[in-house]
Amino acid sequence: MNLSYVSTRGAMEPAGFSEILLAGLAPDGGLVVPRDYPQIDPAALESWRALDYRGLAFEVLSRYATDIEPGELRALIDRTYTAQAFGSDEITPVIELEPGLHLLRLSNGPTLAFKDVAMQLLGNLFEYVLAREGRELNVLGATSGDTGSAAEYALRGKRNVRVFMLSPDGRMSPFQRAQMYSLLDPNIFNIAIDGVFDDCQDLVKAVSADFAFKTRYSIGSVNSINWARVAAQVVYYFKAYFAVTTDHQGTVSFSVPSGNFGDVLAGHIARMMGLPIARLVVATNENDVLDEFFRTGSYRVRGLGETFETSSPSMDISKASNFERFIYDLLERDPDRLASLWLHLERDGAFDLAGSAEFAALERFGMVSGTSRHADRIATIRNTRARYGIVVDTHTADGLHVAQRYREPGVPMVCLETAQPVKFAAAIREALGVEPPRPEAVAGLEERAQRFTRMPADLRLLKRFVAERCVAR
Ligand SMILES: *Cc1c(COP(=O)(O)O)cnc(C)c1O
Repeated sequence: MNLSYVSTRGAMEPAGFSEILLAGLAPDGGLVVPRDYPQIDPAALESWRALDYRGLAFEVLSRYATDIEPGELRALIDRTYTAQAFGSDEITPVIELEPGLHLLRLSNGPTLAFKDVAMQLLGNLFEYVLAREGRELNVLGATSGDTGSAAEYALRGKRNVRVFMLSPDGRMSPFQRAQMYSLLDPNIFNIAIDGVFDDCQDLVKAVSADFAFKTRYSIGSVNSINWARVAAQVVYYFKAYFAVTTDHQGTVSFSVPSGNFGDVLAGHIARMMGLPIARLVVATNENDVLDEFFRTGSYRVRGLGETFETSSPSMDISKASNFERFIYDLLERDPDRLASLWLHLERDGAFDLAGSAEFAALERFGMVSGTSRHADRIATIRNTRARYGIVVDTHTADGLHVAQRYREPGVPMVCLETAQPVKFAAAIREALGVEPPRPEAVAGLEERAQRFTRMPADLRLLKRFVAERCVAR
């Protein structure tokens, strides 16, 4: 049976997985969601317990990618989730910190952050669908670090794909810069813009607003609203559930360091599919838009001046781009109400569900939240090493900190490790007075040859650069 996808705002013709894979927003400005969540009953769930990561990924993803032939999908999954790419056949190992408290390690992929888990699959899915349809894709993006490198490592060397990634010249850490600029693959173009991250993002937006150029050069993106990325992240919630339970009697809670709400949304979807999740803890840093909503019912997008640069920078957001998908479910999947709420949001920069029946019923989704600040994460990094002998990064520390408040007897709490500490060395030095441990794979990274192009923040130069390297349609 084919699963079709619709827009949260209701004005999109139902489409299949392969069609929505390469698209960004729905044509009506909404986000693409499956018409129904596939349901996994307790018997089916137990039958998955013995599966390895690849087997589990196939069970979950074949329910979403229903228009990819199962044998092909299985081959794509087997090629993606290898011990070579993710450090072990477990792909996302779970370790016990103490009874009832666990760490789900998601950052053993090529860029040492959890985004690899979904992005590595996306790279293979893109290549497969583009070849099948005889198309090309030129990914244009802006990055201040994590997302850009995960996209580049996923798309390097892929056929019919090029990546043009803009980053602010001289404003990333030497480690981040080396991670991206040391990729020498001919289909990867790193462009160091003379400016800040917002200049990079403005350039990308300006190119995307030029519909003729975008079509002529098959320009696309790989941002966090991509449905396939969310679906790929659902898998590890199942994996962790099996790792910390022995039968289907109990429930499990998860604590998720959150920015754009992609990771925790995947947990919500796992729960909607029938995974027995008690609580989903949304952990934010000082940029607490999401915590404010879950506490008060008011969702208020932050302005530039209100968006803070923190020591967990991958969560420094002014609005949460995947949030619309959760609100759609909260509003019992009523696209008209969702659309009018978002109209309100675009006009006033805020909406308020306080006092509504839906917000009162929030508890049925198990979502709770909390904020972790710089001092909290530094203290958590120290305590975690002192108690368990493990060094965690700043984002993971935010999740561990907020999790403490929501632990319950008899319900294991699984905290998601979203990056390796080596990526955020300054905070580790501040907390522990030592350099973070450096995985073998990135030994000597900063000394490797680098390839990138410097460019002023000039739209015409950027368009010419892209056009000269692409085939026009
Ligand atoms: C992207 C990222 C996050 C936030 O994930 P969302 O899906 O945007 O909520 C947290 N930690 C790290 C290390 C990240 O790279």
